[in-house]
Amino acid sequence: MSDPDCIFCKIVAGDIPSAQIDSDERTVAFMDINPATRGHVLIIPRRHHRDVLTIDADDLNACTLMAKQIAARVMDKLGADGVNLLNSCGSAAWQTVFHFHMHVIPRYIDDSARDALKLPWVPKAGDMADIAAAAAELGA
Ligand code: AMP
Ligand code: ZN
Repeated sequence: MSDPDCIFCKIVAGDIPSAQIDSDERTVAFMDINPATRGHVLIIPRRHHRDVLTIDADDLNACTLMAKQIAARVMDKLGADGVNLLNSCGSAAWQTVFHFHMHVIPRYIDDSARDALKLPWVPKAGDMADIAAAAAELGA
């Protein structure tokens, strides 16, 4: 399962270069070329899936386990103080490459040279009635 127009499928196939750091039978881990912080890694399934809504459980599990391993590695080898795992689903959620991927973003305290990220929302108390209404809509 591969999409000839997909840049990440081309990375899996070796048709375009990437700085790969690990791989297994289902996944590839490589460096993001526009790193949010130092050591920003992407985890992708070898097979093409558009997003988290369409990926199957086995490939999702494999990506998640690889992300966990890389998260531990950025803490250990890069001296990160924390790590964000991020997935974007849909352009409204900032997805720009439509081959499922997980970002592993190392975080560094008080180090603007390696980490200039800011929380993209301002936490403030929500409207309790609307929270309850959303919960009612979301309940299984
Ligand atoms: P997203 O915006 O969540 O879909 O993430 C896509 C990510 O892929 C961005 O962070 C890009 O910097 C990264 N990216 C795009 N093309 C390449 C490439 N050829 N090699 C490595 N990373 C890439
Ligand atoms: Zn693809």
